Amino acid sequence: MVSSLSGQKVLVFGLAKSGVAAARLLLARGARVTALDARDEASLGEVARELKAQGVTLVTGATPPGLLEEQRLVVVSPGVPLALPELKAAREAGVLVWGEIELAWRFLSGVPLIGITGTNGKSTTTALTGELFTRGGGRTFVGGNLGRPLAEAALTPKDWDTLVVELSSFQLEGIHLMRPKGAAILNLTPDHIDRYLSHDAYGEAKARIFRNQTLGDFAVVNAEDAHLMRLALHANVPVYGFSLTGQKAEGGAKLTGMAVARPGGFRLDFLGEDYTLSNRALRGAHNAQNAMAAALLARLGGVPKEAVQAGLDGYPGLPHRLESVRVLDGVEWVNDSKATNVDSVLVALRAFPGNLLLIAGGKGKGAPYRPMVEEGRGKVKAVLTIGQDAELLAAAYQGQAPVHPCGTLEVAVRRARELARAGDTVLLSPACASYDQFKNFEDRGDTFKRLVQAL
Ligand code: ADP
Repeated sequence: MVSSLSGQKVLVFGLAKSGVAAARLLLARGARVTALDARDEASLGEVARELKAQGVTLVTGATPPGLLEEQRLVVVSPGVPLALPELKAAREAGVLVWGEIELAWRFLSGVPLIGITGTNGKSTTTALTGELFTRGGGRTFVGGNLGRPLAEAALTPKDWDTLVVELSSFQLEGIHLMRPKGAAILNLTPDHIDRYLSHDAYGEAKARIFRNQTLGDFAVVNAEDAHLMRLALHANVPVYGFSLTGQKAEGGAKLTGMAVARPGGFRLDFLGEDYTLSNRALRGAHNAQNAMAAALLARLGGVPKEAVQAGLDGYPGLPHRLESVRVLDGVEWVNDSKATNVDSVLVALRAFPGNLLLIAGGKGKGAPYRPMVEEGRGKVKAVLTIGQDAELLAAAYQGQAPVHPCGTLEVAVRRARELARAGDTVLLSPACASYDQFKNFEDRGDTFKRLVQAL
């Protein structure tokens, strides 16, 4: 496969990060590369210049008729729907249509790959699993949907002992032979409804992660989720579950082993091993689930027990997800700017026992705020509102908790400093997108951190 792309016509459809990485990989392997993007050359900027300088034929705007049919292979970016009529026509004309993950895999197939998917917690679990494998001493590539595209790893396949890869459902749609040694589905909630007509169709896309697995491979799922346990019936390999309660859903896959949460940690029952979970970057029940999934993947993937415990203890956390910024006069300041919807705020609120000053607001998504009011009852001492949805939030909290309209993050941080007492936690968990006041959630989180460090 590796040599067979040399001199072949290959088109990269979509020049976002993974498309660009795919184009670079194809060039390095001697393919004749055309790149197609709906954006014009000026908006593509530096990328367009670089690829053209390396001999890529760049086509912008609508797809010219016949262009796809004359290729040997079309590599599709995750943002491009595989159901597009021109892709269908290409497939019918005998053209191979792969996602960037599949392309990368073809150049990496000697290296064990750990694939992680789900609706929530993918990035955390991928970063943590990467940490555990790294502590185990192997040269570990961590990327995929998070951070570096897998095609970057494929440029230097000999550099890696293990690939730990976050996979979105879009990326999974574009795989054919990609075979993860370990595959995890963390959870499944019906988002992406615009792209998948039913919850089941969405689940089926995720279950593709299991389809090429074979002898020696393994699968990991949330044992308490009945839908996931049914999906795991698709797996032809031993299935391991993780559970907060020790319960598992009826009627699904048979489990070969379980990770079960316990006070202060969890146990891998099939190995008789106990682990402690005291890292602040992994607080909350959702992170206990992520940690159990990561530990299962690592232990089953050959990482020694001591390295798993060391990795759980030393994991630095990802920015903007319950990120502890500072403790000042006994008050902890936490940046959870990634919480752009109400569900994520619920997860955050559950991670704290109480004494919270909540900073929330921004560009709302139209979902009711009532659930976060309920979840925070007895825990949220005050709400400091910012951004467009401030009034809606204030209305939801009326009579439930004191509301301080602050307008901007800067004012909210100053106000929280006045209000907070030792033992309190100031939590930025906005429940909203950031675009009304910031470039993105990272910009919002970075601004928060800067303001808090300056106190
Ligand atoms: P993803 O990459 O899937 O978006 P992240 O690790 O970045 O996942 O987490 C995004 C948000 O999802 C977190 O801020 C948290 O609110 C929520 N979350 C994380 N892990 C879980 C989980 N296991 N179950 C439910 N929600 C979670």
